[in-house]
Amino acid sequence: MRKIAFCLIQGVYTLAVFSIFVIAILGALIGSFANVVIYRVPAGKSIVFPASSCPKCGHKIKPWENIPVISWLFLRAKCSNCKAPISFRYPLIELVTAIGFGLLAWRWPLEVYGFTVIPLLIIFAMLVMMSMIDLDTLLLPDSLTLPAIMVGVLGTFIYRQNSGLPSLNQALVGGAVGAGIIALVNRVGSLVVRRFADTKERLWPIGMDQVNVAALGGALGGWTWGLGAAAASMLVNLVARKPIRLPELTVYALWVVALVVSSFGILTTPVGGISGTFIATGIVAIVGALFWWVRDLASNEPLPDDSEDEPVAMGFGDVKLAAVLGVILGWQQLLAALFLSFLIGAVGGIASRLAGGDRLIPFGPYLVLGGLLALFFGQDLISWYLGMLGISGA
Ligand SMILES: [Zn+2]
Repeated sequence: MRKIAFCLIQGVYTLAVFSIFVIAILGALIGSFANVVIYRVPAGKSIVFPASSCPKCGHKIKPWENIPVISWLFLRAKCSNCKAPISFRYPLIELVTAIGFGLLAWRWPLEVYGFTVIPLLIIFAMLVMMSMIDLDTLLLPDSLTLPAIMVGVLGTFIYRQNSGLPSLNQALVGGAVGAGIIALVNRVGSLVVRRFADTKERLWPIGMDQVNVAALGGALGGWTWGLGAAAASMLVNLVARKPIRLPELTVYALWVVALVVSSFGILTTPVGGISGTFIATGIVAIVGALFWWVRDLASNEPLPDDSEDEPVAMGFGDVKLAAVLGVILGWQQLLAALFLSFLIGAVGGIASRLAGGDRLIPFGPYLVLGGLLALFFGQDLISWYLGMLGISGA
C-alpha cells in the first residue's frame, strides 16, 4: 500500500516536472516570436508576413536555423549564408522567456491550479516585448499595453481561488491605482518640466484636462466624485464642440487644497481622498488612452511627429504599463511593485551615470522588473513590511 502511494507521488512529481519543462520549451518558441515583434512592431511592419530573413543578405531563415537558442549556438552567431554576425540579444530573449515561463509554471502548476497560469504566461511574453521595445525606442506601443490590460482583467475569470491572484474587483482597483499613480507623476512632473505652461496634447473630447480634473474631484470627495468631475468636463467639451481648457497649475493647486480638506474627513475620509484621487485618475487615463487608440486606428490621419511631443517626466506608456501590473497584482502588491521599480530604477540610473552613460533610460523595463518581483515575492514582502510595523495577520 505504501509502495503504491510512493509510486503515485513519484508519478505526480514526474508529471509536474514534465509540464514545467514543456511550458519552458513553449516559452523559448514564444521568445523567438517576441524577437520578431520587438523588431517589427516599432517599424510598423506585419508580424506574420514575410518569414524572417537575414537583414544583411536577405537569406531566408530555414526552420532548422530558427530553433530557439540552439540554432544560434550551432550557427556560431553567424548567418549561414553571408556570415554576418547575429546578435546575442536573440537567444537571450528566447532564454529569458523560457525561464520566465518555467518559473510561472513552477509557481502555479497546471496540476494544482488548472489554467491559472495561462493569462500570466501571455502577459509575461507581452512584458518581455514591451521592455525591449521601450529600451530600443523609448515607446510602449498601445497595441501591446492595452490588450495586456484586457488579458489581465479576463484572467481573473480563470484563476483558481487559492492561487493568490486578484479577483475581478481587486484587478480593476489594482489597474486603476497603477495607472492613477503614474498618471499623476506624469501630469505633475510634466507640468514642472514645461515650466507650468498648459499642455497642448490630445484635448478633445477627452484628454489631459479630464485626467487632471479627475484627480481633483477624487481627492475632494472620493473616486466617484473624480469620475463625475471628468464626465462633466467632457460633456462641456462636447457641448462647446471645442476643448474648454482648465488651467493645469490652478487644478493642481486646488488638488493640494482638496487633499488637505479630505485629510480632515470633510467630504470623504482621508483614505477615501487619497485612494479616490488615484482610482479616478487611473480610470480616466485608461478610458482616454482607449479612446485615442481606437481613434488613431480608425483614422487615416498620420500620427503626430515624435519630435513635436512635449517634454515629459515620465511617458504615458508607463501609465498603461502600470495598469497591466495592477490588474495582475491587485493594489497592495502593486504598491510593492512600484516601490521596487523606483528603487531598482534609482540604482540603475546612478550606476549608468557612474559608468559614463548619458543615454536616456526608459522606465518601462524597471516597472516590469518590479512587477515580476512583486508577482513572485510581493506577499512575503508585504508580510515582512507589516511585521516591521508591528501589524500581523494582514
Ligand atoms: Zn546573411
